[in-house]
Amino acid sequence: MTNDPHKKHEPPHTGPLTAESQATLSPSEALGWLVAGNDRFVREITLDRDHAAAVRATAVQQFPFAVVLGCMDSRVAPEIIFDAGIGDIFSVRVAGNYASPGALGSLEFATLVAGAKIILVLGHSGCGAVAGAVQGGAEGNLGKLLEHIAPAIDAVEDFTGNRDASNPIFTHAVARENVKMTIDQIMTESPAIAAAVREGRIGIAGAMHDVSSGAVNFFDRR
Ligand SMILES: [Zn+2]
Repeated sequence: MTNDPHKKHEPPHTGPLTAESQATLSPSEALGWLVAGNDRFVREITLDRDHAAAVRATAVQQFPFAVVLGCMDSRVAPEIIFDAGIGDIFSVRVAGNYASPGALGSLEFATLVAGAKIILVLGHSGCGAVAGAVQGGAEGNLGKLLEHIAPAIDAVEDFTGNRDASNPIFTHAVARENVKMTIDQIMTESPAIAAAVREGRIGIAGAMHDVSSGAVNFFDRR
C-alpha cells in the first residue's frame, strides 16, 4: 500500500459496487474511498444517495469495499462518518473495538469470502470503554470486556501527564495504542488475513475518529 490514497478516489461512487468493480478495486483505492468519504463528511458535502435503489441493487448479492472494526459508540457510525451507502461497508462493532473471536471471524468473512479490500480498525476520542479500562474496577461481563483493552494502557510509554481516566489526553493515547495493538493481534491471530495483507490482496489500517469534529485520522497502514 504505497500509493497515496488521496489521489485515487475520483470519481466518487454513489451506488453499491458490482462483482466486477469490487474485484478490480485495489486496497489503496478502497482506503482512499474511506479517506475521501470522511473528508466529504467533515466538509458537509456528502453525496446524494438513492437508498431505495441501493436496496434493490443489493437484494441478492453484496460487494462491499471495506470492513470497519469500530466501537459501538453512537457517534462513530461508519456509514455516516465515511459518507458511504447501503452495501458499501461491513461494520463490526463492539465496545472498545477489540478483536474478539467473533470479530476476527467476521473480518475473515468480510475480506476472504465476501471480497472487501480494506480492514480499518477505528478507535475514537472520548471512548467510554477505554476510559473504563483505564479506571478499572468494572465487574461482570463488562469487566471481562475491558480486560481486552487493558494491555494498551501499559503500552503507552513516555507519557508525562496524569495516567488516569480523568485525563482525556491519556485516554486518547490509550485508544490509539489499542488500535495499533488490535491490528497486531489481527495479523497474529488470523494467518489467513496476514497472508492476504502480505500478498497485497487486502490492506489493513488504523484510524482515530475525533467525535468533536467528525474527522478521522488514519495511521499504521500496511
Ligand atoms: Zn468507544
